[in-house]
Amino acid sequence: MTTAGTREVDLAGEQATGFRRVLLKLSGEALMGDREFGLDPERIEQIAHEIVEVHETGLEIAIVSGAGNIYRGMAAAAEGMDRATADYAGMLATVLNSLVLQDALERRGAQTRVLSALVVSEVAEPYIRRRAIRHLEKGRIVIFAAGTGNPFFTTDTAAALRALEIGAEAILMGKHAVEGVYGDDPRTNPGAELLPQLTHLEVIERGLKVMDTTALSLCMDNNLPIYVFELAQGNIRRVAAGERVGTIISTSKEKDE
Ligand code: UDP
Repeated sequence: MTTAGTREVDLAGEQATGFRRVLLKLSGEALMGDREFGLDPERIEQIAHEIVEVHETGLEIAIVSGAGNIYRGMAAAAEGMDRATADYAGMLATVLNSLVLQDALERRGAQTRVLSALVVSEVAEPYIRRRAIRHLEKGRIVIFAAGTGNPFFTTDTAAALRALEIGAEAILMGKHAVEGVYGDDPRTNPGAELLPQLTHLEVIERGLKVMDTTALSLCMDNNLPIYVFELAQGNIRRVAAGERVGTIISTSKEKDE
């Protein structure tokens, strides 16, 4: 079975080969740690440390950062703000998170570039697909800021879109305080079961909370697997090395054959 790239995923077994190029989606929550809002410097240091460690093994890494730790357009719209304006504010918040991540990665010696879907030329390059690919080939970590550049979308959709554009073999979705995808919300139902393997369609049909349906259907239509795991120490490295951690969402074997 082949997935989006050349990577082979053996859904039935425990083994999977390592990746060559991945897209790491970091939600705003992941950067917030246990705080209620904003950024947790310790948490960011830990994540940056791990990303650089994995990058040094030769893996090409692009990152999409969310902004739920600072601003969510939908929440502001619910309080009466114009939705599109609120969404643009949310996208700007992702630029802020991207710069913080860039700084943490570069302090560890990595070379990085922030590519933004909104023009903020003083702090980031504009998003140009071929340039992003070239940066990756040159060993730079690429951080995609400002989501898709369009309101009414999410950074999950940006992650799916950019992953497909750059030919990433998978989306690695680091979650805060949950080990993967559960049958029910583990925060309210302690008995909720961790589901190690799902198809995109199952996630959509069961309404499981992984990413929004726009992002999921984009992944499904293009056979892009999503690895959902807890952002606990060592997990990015484990997932990148092909170890089974958390949940794999992939197009079913039957469908691929
Ligand atoms: N956003 C947007 N278009 C995009 C990506 C993001 O309008 O393509 C806005 C939207 O308001 C969203 C906010 O940016 O609420 C922050 O992104 P998101 O909620 O996806 O962050 P996460 O949940 O990953 O922290």
